[in-house]
Amino acid sequence: MLLAWALTLGAIIGSFLNVLIHRLPLGQNIAWPSSYCPHCHTPLKLWHNIPILSWLLLRGRCGYCGAPIGVRYIAVEIASITIFGSSYWLLGASLDALLFGVVFALLLALSLIDWRYKAVPDSLNLTILAFALFANGHPLIALWYGLLFAGGFAMLRFVLSYYLYGKLRFLARDRLRTSWLAHYDILPSHEAMGEADIIVAATIGALLGVELGVIAIFLAALLSLPVALYRRHEDVQTPFVPFLALGAFVTFVMHEPLLRMLEAWYA
Ligand SMILES: [Zn+2]
Repeated sequence: MLLAWALTLGAIIGSFLNVLIHRLPLGQNIAWPSSYCPHCHTPLKLWHNIPILSWLLLRGRCGYCGAPIGVRYIAVEIASITIFGSSYWLLGASLDALLFGVVFALLLALSLIDWRYKAVPDSLNLTILAFALFANGHPLIALWYGLLFAGGFAMLRFVLSYYLYGKLRFLARDRLRTSWLAHYDILPSHEAMGEADIIVAATIGALLGVELGVIAIFLAALLSLPVALYRRHEDVQTPFVPFLALGAFVTFVMHEPLLRMLEAWYA
């Protein structure tokens, strides 16, 4: 029964994430007006707005103008349900589970914004970090780990950018002044690139602690490698935030076997 509630919460938050992903980069208010069709701008009725079900009932089209509604909307809702389901599965019905769910759900929104705009709003990024600090029930320890990871990650990027820029673009992406200036022109209200990854690293440290955090970042680099290689001939940069988020989520889901493995390794 509680699982059903967790999944429902996941669906509702997934629906909210879609609003966030759509409106935040455009500088629109995320609470008002209520949901509308992005094509014909007609405000949606409540029954148009039920996560997944409405999309299926309307066969992926707007109920008014018939414009197709992207598969992305339903994919985000399913991903959010998966996040809250896993969080409940691993941590039970607890405040921790809720906070972990919220952090990963918002990281999903952050990832999709980064993927699309190659920049993320600091407001969302810092909000995620704030939630992450409280997710473990030990905010001060989480803050300590968060700062450690922010510092370590900043240092790592300096070193990598210095030695490897050009060869490992996927790690040192978008460090060129020209490229961030280009983005800055498009998105003047958004921060320059670079700091975003550091804040996400702090979130990972606060959320997962040192050992699991390092695993998460290693995993992120590993996951981004094939994508960066695949896209190396296109003149696009592969954003790193989605991979950090994915690495963190996989590490979170696998944290019990991973911790056992680490214990066996230390012993
Ligand atoms: Zn419409």
